[in-house]
This record gives sequence, C-alpha cells and structure tokens, in this order.
Amino acid sequence: WRAAGEAAVMVLAVLLGLSYIYRKLNSEMELMLRQRNFIASVTHELKTPIASLRVWIETLYTRELGPERRARIQKLMDGDLVRLTELVGNLLEVARADAGSLDLKFEPTEVAPWLREVVESMDHRLGTGSLGLNLQLGIGIHADMDRRAMGQVMDNLLSNAFKYAPEPRSTEITLDSDGEFAIITVTDRGNGISARELPRVFQRFYRVGDEMTRQVPGTGLGLFLCWEIVTLHQGHIKATSPGPGLGATFTIRIPLSPR
Ligand code: ADP
Repeated sequence: WRAAGEAAVMVLAVLLGLSYIYRKLNSEMELMLRQRNFIASVTHELKTPIASLRVWIETLYTRELGPERRARIQKLMDGDLVRLTELVGNLLEVARADAGSLDLKFEPTEVAPWLREVVESMDHRLGTGSLGLNLQLGIGIHADMDRRAMGQVMDNLLSNAFKYAPEPRSTEITLDSDGEFAIITVTDRGNGISARELPRVFQRFYRVGDEMTRQVPGTGLGLFLCWEIVTLHQGHIKATSPGPGLGATFTIRIPLSPR
C-alpha cells in the first residue's frame, strides 16, 4: 500500500508539473502571437494614415480646388494626424513604462474643469458632436495627478468609445467622489464586452478577437497604458459591460488630494 501511495503521489506531482509547464508555454505562445499581431497592427496603423496624408498633400499641390473641397481635405488630414499622434504617443509611453521612466508630475488639480477641457478637446478632434457627450461632473473634487498622463488615459477611453460604438453615439461621462477617491466613469452604448473578455482587455497587446474589433484599427496598447498610468496614481481602473451589444463602462478611481 505504501509503495502504491508513493507512486500515486509521484504521478500526481508529475501531472501537476506537466500541467504547469503546459499553462506556462500556452501563455508564452499566446503572448508571442499577440506580439506578432501587434507588429502587424502597428505597421498597418502607421502606414495607413501616412499613405493617406501623402495622397492629400499631392492633391492639394497639384489640383485646383474650390474652398469647400479644400476644407474637406484638411479635415481628413486632421483625422489622419490625430491617429498618428495617438499611436506615436502610446508607443512612446509604453517604451517609457518599460524603461521604468514614466516619471509623473503630480499636481493638485480640480478634476471637473480639467476633465471638461480634456473631453471637449477630444470630441473636437474626433469631429465636434461625434461622441454624443453627456457630462455630469461633480464640482469641488480635487486629486493630485499628472494631467498629461491622465489626459492620455481619457483620450484612450474616449477614442475607444468612438471606435467601438456605431453612430449615433452616446457617451456619458460622470465625475463623483466617495470621500476617498475621485471616481470618473465613461459609458458608451456600443458593442460592449463579454464577461469572459472583460478582465483581459487591460493586458498588453490584447484585442478582443471578434469581427467588429478586427474591422477597427488598433494595437491593444491603449487600455494597458490606462491601467499602468492609473496604477501609478495609486488608483484603479475597471471595465464592466451588461454584455455584447449593450455598451461598456470604464471606471477610474484615483485618491483625493489630502486636505
Ligand atoms: P485597441 O483599441 O488599440 O485595440 P485597447 O487596449 O484600447 O486597444 O483595447 C483593447 C480591446 O478592448 C479592444 O481591441 C477592444 O476589443 C476592446 N475594447 C476597448 N474599449 C472598448 C469599448 N468601449 N467597447 C467595446 N470594446 C472595447
């Protein structure tokens, strides 16, 4: 009996070891695949707006255009530049995070006016009115934050609310406090995210593998960066969604300034 017991323990240990190795390899493989997709996405993300800008510049230089057509082209060029600026911004920020040099400058900030400005500026860049904004911002809420980095967090969340929701969009932004944290929520009425995918969307390079996401440009870096930046503020970020097709809510909590 004793020998049989020992053998059983050995077999169990080997099985546990094998299952550990299998899981480890599986997640390494998944990361490798995601990285490969990431390079393909970045290449595509860089090439598309550059190619488009080249065409527009050529058109502006070589054709006689009326003021309306010229204004339309300028708007399209703006869109390409927004895309490029965001991508390069996210790439630089991730490189800084990797090097451990995302050194943030925390400044006491009244959140509501800062948030209003950031949100309205993003709506303007995406085409005024296109986010269908509804802002409910509590006043008198102060937090110590790096405004540039937190601005990037909001830009990424709003750019997702834009990308993953069909028109006409409706994006609700709220600001509140629970006495300990400033709480910002961004809710869209877009595709939503399934319960299974919710915890994974903050992983580096992760993109949901559905048809809708494939049609939308992206690199899977935006939410990873949001998570890094909010964590550096001693805060939390989470995603919730009633389910696919029913929209998503992103909730950020960052500590209030000490009184
Ligand atoms: P990207 O948008 O570049 O793919 P993100 O890191 O910003 O990368 O988002 C990761 C994934 O999470 C997206 O690919 C998308 O599948 C999903 N996602 C993010 N925001 C939303 C949203 N508001 N609604 C539905 N899905 C979303």
